[in-house]
Amino acid sequence: MSLPPLQLPTIQNWSCHNCSGCCRQHLIEITEEERQRILDQKWTAKDGVPEGKAVVPHGSGLFKKSWRLAHGSDGGCVFLNDDGLCRIHAKFGEAAKPLACRIYPYALHPAGKKVTVSLRFSCPSVVANVGKPVSENRDELKKIERLVVPENANKVPPPGISKNEQLDWPDTLKIVNALHELVTQDDEVGVIERLYRALFVVGLVDQAQFELIRGARMGDFLEIISEAALLEELPQPAQPVGVMQMQFRLLVAHYARKDTVADLDAGFAGRWRLFRAATKFASGRGTAVPLQDCFQEVSFETMEQPFGDFPDEFDEILTRYLSVKLQGMHFCGPAYYDIPLVEGFRSLALVISAMCWIAKWLAASDGRSTWTTEDLSKAMAIADHHHGYSPIFGSGGFRRRVNMLAKTDDLLRILLWYAR
Ligand code: SF4
Repeated sequence: MSLPPLQLPTIQNWSCHNCSGCCRQHLIEITEEERQRILDQKWTAKDGVPEGKAVVPHGSGLFKKSWRLAHGSDGGCVFLNDDGLCRIHAKFGEAAKPLACRIYPYALHPAGKKVTVSLRFSCPSVVANVGKPVSENRDELKKIERLVVPENANKVPPPGISKNEQLDWPDTLKIVNALHELVTQDDEVGVIERLYRALFVVGLVDQAQFELIRGARMGDFLEIISEAALLEELPQPAQPVGVMQMQFRLLVAHYARKDTVADLDAGFAGRWRLFRAATKFASGRGTAVPLQDCFQEVSFETMEQPFGDFPDEFDEILTRYLSVKLQGMHFCGPAYYDIPLVEGFRSLALVISAMCWIAKWLAASDGRSTWTTEDLSKAMAIADHHHGYSPIFGSGGFRRRVNMLAKTDDLLRILLWYAR
């Protein structure tokens, strides 16, 4: 079977550094076939795996039809050994592991005549940009492509552009490329200003009626609105207030929470902690309830303060994040709850603001009033764990929240206010 060519990110490195973070923080859902394969591998307590308990039902209700790997009392997958390595990999080879483990942190998405490759920034090695350039992992990625990309990948339709507009793949990709160019161009303004310009362009794309500007005219249209975006003056940051500020805080709370097995199994105590956190984040009064061990109780007022310079390293990490997500089509369509491009891009801007908020929380939890690259890197890993993967972000309520913030321009206000 001949598969479409891969489009790899241009500015991203990655190799696995065996930190075992993914085997601790993710729930690994498996298919019936994978379950059977693991049972046939006949794991016993002598191998360090609790006999008959390596796979457990997943989901709720009477008809639990899906399965996941069990986790031990230390929070890690039962197949994770004391050296932080995978027992299945060690005993039976890489190909014997569940598919989800083999793919992570890559994410492949059909994009017309090609398949794009993105990465999940929940992996600290991805955030830190360490390892080989992804372009040197092409052979490995071709193997993954054979495993996950369906034969009819080139028939997958492009994501909608906005609520009422749909274009073909070439025109859709022209818009994505224009946004990519805007957020990555090296013209001596920072990433936040570049993102601000891209949001301006997205606003015009949202209002456009494409009947007369499909095909040959699309390039001209994008050039004109991109040039107009370059003339946009960045307003002075102004504090978001009222309902919009509350909506954003609630969004942050969802990005900052943890959803490992230990947290899901925390029972009443866990649910009570989440309820208390939700009411605090909704009111914005007093202190933020820690949603993970890395956080301390910090006043909400603290996160409204500037946390020092926005250093070059912040620019590098955020630019790379946006570049990978855009080139990899990892922000809309099937990769992001089947959401249209405009809405997906706005969600991408919001997750950047959420990362800044969380980075401040991490710095303040450490008793500091200035943030560091380490704070932002950690915040990125925490937030990206959920972005595009926690079902709640694809729900009607969350989508309404994003659209409401966009309609009132609060999204721009939030972006400028929290990135300082
Ligand atoms: S099966 Fe192996 S790679 Fe997958 S989560 Fe468990 S230890 Fe990690």
